[in-house]
Order: sequence, then C-alpha cells, then structure tokens
Amino acid sequence: MSLKFFNTLSRSVQEFAPLTPGKVGMYCCGPTVYDFAHIGNWRTFVFGDLVRRYLEFKGYEVRHVMNITDVEDKIIRRFRETKTSLREFTGKFEAAFFEDLKALNCRMPHETPRATEHIAEIISLIEQLLAHGIAYQAADGSVYFSIEKYRASGRTYGQLLKLNFEEMRAGERVKSDDYAKEAVADFALWKARAADDGEVSWPSPWGEGRPGWHIECSAMSMKILGPTFDLHLGGEDLIFPHHEDEIAQSEGATGKPFVKYWLHGAHLLVEGKKMSKSLGNFFTLRDLLAKGFTGREIRYSLLTAHYRETFNFTLGGLEGARAALARIDGCVAKLREIVGSDTLSRVQADQQVGRTELVAHFTEALDDDLNISAAWAAVFDWLRETNRRIAEKNLPPDEASASFAAWGKINSVLGISAVATAEAPAEILALLEQRQAARKVKDFKHSDAIRDELKAKGWVIEDTPKGPKLKKVKKHRTFNLQLPTSNACGNECWKLNFEC
Ligand SMILES: [Zn+2]
Repeated sequence: MSLKFFNTLSRSVQEFAPLTPGKVGMYCCGPTVYDFAHIGNWRTFVFGDLVRRYLEFKGYEVRHVMNITDVEDKIIRRFRETKTSLREFTGKFEAAFFEDLKALNCRMPHETPRATEHIAEIISLIEQLLAHGIAYQAADGSVYFSIEKYRASGRTYGQLLKLNFEEMRAGERVKSDDYAKEAVADFALWKARAADDGEVSWPSPWGEGRPGWHIECSAMSMKILGPTFDLHLGGEDLIFPHHEDEIAQSEGATGKPFVKYWLHGAHLLVEGKKMSKSLGNFFTLRDLLAKGFTGREIRYSLLTAHYRETFNFTLGGLEGARAALARIDGCVAKLREIVGSDTLSRVQADQQVGRTELVAHFTEALDDDLNISAAWAAVFDWLRETNRRIAEKNLPPDEASASFAAWGKINSVLGISAVATAEAPAEILALLEQRQAARKVKDFKHSDAIRDELKAKGWVIEDTPKGPKLKKVKKHRTFNLQLPTSNACGNECWKLNFEC
C-alpha cells in the first residue's frame, strides 16, 4: 500500500506523491519565542516529528524546515517589559525550545531560520505583491495585502476552508497578527513603526517598520524550499488566518501553487478541559518534567492518539505511559539477551526486517494517514507474542535477532525506546532516566534506590557537568605474576601483584 495523508487543501485522504520522487520538502510552523512552549504546542511538534520520521522510514530524503518567529506582536509586548535586547530575550526561549525538543526526542529540523535574519527576503516578497497590485500602502505607512484585489486577479482566498464572504465581516483592515476568525480582513505585510514598538524596527522602502507574522513564513519557506514544495504542517488553529494568508501571499507573488499537501494536527485538552492558567491545567513541558515525568513518557502519551483527533492529555495517562514503556523495555531487554553479540545473525536479521509481521502491520497502519492506533496495536500484539515465546523458551536466536532488529526499525519512527547502545542496554538507560526524574523532584530516596539497583546490575553513575554518565563496573581480576629471574646477582624471583 502506498502512503496516504489527509490533505486539508483537498479535504480528502490522498496518495502522497512528492514533487521530486524520493525527496520531500517539509515546512512546520515553529515557535513564537516569547515564553516556554506548552503541551498543546508540543503535541503539534511531536506530530511533525512523527511525519518526518515516518517519511525517512519510508526511504524519503526529507528536508525539514522549522521557522523561529522572533519578531511579532506578543514578543514585543513581553520583551518591552524586560531590560534586555530583543535577541537576548528571544534567544533564551529559543534555546529552551531546542532543549525541550531534544527532551522529547524530536529530530532536529535541518533548517531553523529566524524571521529577524530574513528581513531582506520579506521586503522583496512584499515588493512583488505591490508590483502585482495586490498590496498597498495605507495612510498609516503600513503595507497591507488586499484580499479584494487578490480575488479579482482570479485567485481563491479560502483554499483551506470555505469562507462565506457574505456572512463574514469583510473589508476591514487589521494590523494585528492575531485577528478575529470571523473577519476576512486585509492583513498587514509590513507594519509601520509605532510608539509601542520601541527600538524594534528595520528600514524599508516604506519607512521604518517590521514584518507581519504571516509574511515571515511565506518568505522563509520559499527561500529554502522553493516557490512550490511538498508538505506544510501546523496546528489546526493556524488554518485561518495564518495558513490561508501564507497561501495568498505566496501564490499572489509567484503565481505558482504554494504547497501540495497541508497537514493539520488537532487540539489538545488537558484533563478534559481546554487548557487555561486559571483552571490550573496549563502545563509547559518543563512543568511536567518537574513533576517527575520523563520526556519519553510525555512523547509516548502524545503519540497515542491520531493526529486529527482531539486528544485528552491527563497525568493519569502519563502513569499509563510509564507502565507501557516498562513493558516494552522489559521485552526488548530480554530479546537483547537472547541475541547476545551474534553480529552475523544480526546482519541477517536486518535483511529480514521488512518481512517481519511487526514491520508489515506497522507500515500498513501508518501508510493509512498515520493510523497510530493500529500501529500501536501491531506493537502490543508483537510484545505479547514475543513475551509468550520467550516464557515458553520457544524463540530461537535467529528469530529473536529478526524481532530485535524489527523493533529497532519501528522505534526509528516512534522514538520511544531508550536508545540501546553497545555500552548500555535499554533497560539500564531507562533506569538512569527514572533516576534523573526522581532527582529533579528531589526524591532522593527513590533516586538512591535506583542507583543501588543499577550498581547491582553492574553499572555505576558518574555525575559530570554535562550530565550523568553510565560506566560499567569492571570485574576485577588479580593476577599473580611470578617472573623468574636469572640475574647475575642471584636475587630471588620477584613478584608482581596488580589489578586490571
Ligand atoms: Zn507559519
């Protein structure tokens, strides 16, 4: 079966055929760096990571671009309350974002362009829109996109969702980046410098000012991926106006189709309710890590629901994630033991991976618009069957090797198994992760107990400035070397005792 995605542009499940066979250009709207990203944002980023990993699993060469919005209304509001520079203020949250991305084991995008470093490209795009007569400079000095002129040129505004121009308030003009969803409004491409902007402005043909939010994504995505590219992802809250405006700006300037497939991730509820600070159900990733949960548990939890379904995120669900991961780790550790260091059978196993039931069922599931529930069912069927055969001592090493290799392949998409290295098996890494989580919440009794458990298994932890390191305890052997001497002075044989 071939890979299919639900394309918001066609409102249907379509076969995925990239513009250049074997290669995929993929753009995900990135963070607006004025605060720590919350769990709802992380659902979208983990969804983006799943798409990228699955495309790579399918053998595509993916170019993954994620922008950093480092100039925008909210940023300016927050930043002006601080006494730092814009770069210092946004840099702090940008660094935190990448740290969190790593904690959730998301693959780093290949390019992470910053809006403030693409002002020239943004200005050039606005110039093209002005030249085509679909942008205009208003009396306040700002440059706006004209929806009326764009439509008059024969193009559609409202490609991702049907807009009812009769019912929606039309013709208004907005300078704000976030405007009412019931309005079809001319939106700002370039905002003339206002008193509130402080020092945040750049020179342009229209005077000092700064870019609007929507144009940032059009300029950066097309600069890196070209005027037409394969995939554009984001949360469903970005469909209108942000993505609709991206299409209008890009197609208005180039006259070419902007994006072939649009994928949107659904909302997230926390404990059954919309997340809000006043309800106490607002969590950043850092809040959850501080509660002792690990990035791996949070990633697992976010990956349990289909991306187009509203997902109810709960702390109870995270407990369930911990239990599920322990089951997976246990099974993988047992497989590893059976496989041992038989590299020859591992090489043969890698060649057979594609023919294993696990890989076949998993692929069938994800090919179907990333049907993650069916993919998990394949994983847990495999887990039950493998555990049963191990318990019955009915899993020969060559089959264990194939099974172990199949799990490795599946995990390259899920990214939830503790990374087993030649140095430390998954089970040991999972214990280390739990020890770190316990230390974070200052549960030293628990963290010490885990340290002792690791020691009993032959591993010690060395805390270094770069984080904890695992070291295998070497079994000490004492050698007694007796070297006979035949020196002329006639001294007796001498002895050496040393340990290795
Ligand atoms: Zn965007």
